[in-house]
Amino acid sequence: MAARVITITSGKGGVGKTTLAANLGVALARQGQRVVVVDADVGLRNLDVMLGLENRIVYDLVDVIEKRCRLRQALVRDRRLSELFLLPAAQTRDKSAVRPDDMVSVCENLREQHDFILIDSPAGIEQGFRYAIAPADEIIIVTNPEIAAVRDADRVIGLIEAEEQGPAQLIVNRVKPDMIRRGEMLGIAAVVELLAIDLIGVVPEDEAILIATNQGRPIALSSDSSMTGRAFHNIARRLRGEEVPFLTLREQGVLEWLFRFMRSGGD
Ligand code: ADP
Ligand code: MG
Repeated sequence: MAARVITITSGKGGVGKTTLAANLGVALARQGQRVVVVDADVGLRNLDVMLGLENRIVYDLVDVIEKRCRLRQALVRDRRLSELFLLPAAQTRDKSAVRPDDMVSVCENLREQHDFILIDSPAGIEQGFRYAIAPADEIIIVTNPEIAAVRDADRVIGLIEAEEQGPAQLIVNRVKPDMIRRGEMLGIAAVVELLAIDLIGVVPEDEAILIATNQGRPIALSSDSSMTGRAFHNIARRLRGEEVPFLTLREQGVLEWLFRFMRSGGD
């Protein structure tokens, strides 16, 4: 079966796209899927570092596009998960080295051998965004529960609709339950209502993510006992079509009103 190409994008930088690409890649691979994560942030690569694979890079995306190597030679296999591969970004080039057609043909060549291709998009809505969404069958929009991030996400959703790309689904990352309860952050329900796309995941703010990032060991690799690790695995399961309740946050005893909202608005 040919892979599904899913682009992870946001508009605003720093909201957690690369963190999500790394952890969803790991979670899907741990669930037995054959996954390639593509670092499309040419010039500013960091997906390799988050995955702890930076020392294994020989060739990169631009080498493939400019035919200095075959696609297979540029793929870096994760030593912990044999079904997880990284296609690294070039660090020494700028985004003009990649055109939308290039990404489409690279993904076409990856589709046969894999189940999921996750593209980690650069920030912004310029060239990098355009080539990152070009091959996408589906798009994941990442936002944080704060007004600047939501505004940028809204703009990106408009662009995706104008390009007739999608469907787009939403992940709200870095949710601090306490702050929401005190009314200091936009509530999840408010964000979902504002952006009017389907919610596929809520990821809590967790300092373990920063530590994991520095160690090149995505949190989704370790046991599923942590709330955040579970959140990533649940998103991966939802991507695969399973109905997974938003258990993690309910278990934490917060955001009960999210479920009230979903029940009142849902079927
Ligand atoms: P982007 O790719 O959108 O620019 P990153 O994935 O690089 O964003 O994340 C930006 C920073 O935020 C990183 O230092 C990362 O460790 C941190 N971060 C991302 N998600 C979380 C989270 N849920 N909890 C805590 N820190 C996070
Ligand atoms: Mg990034």
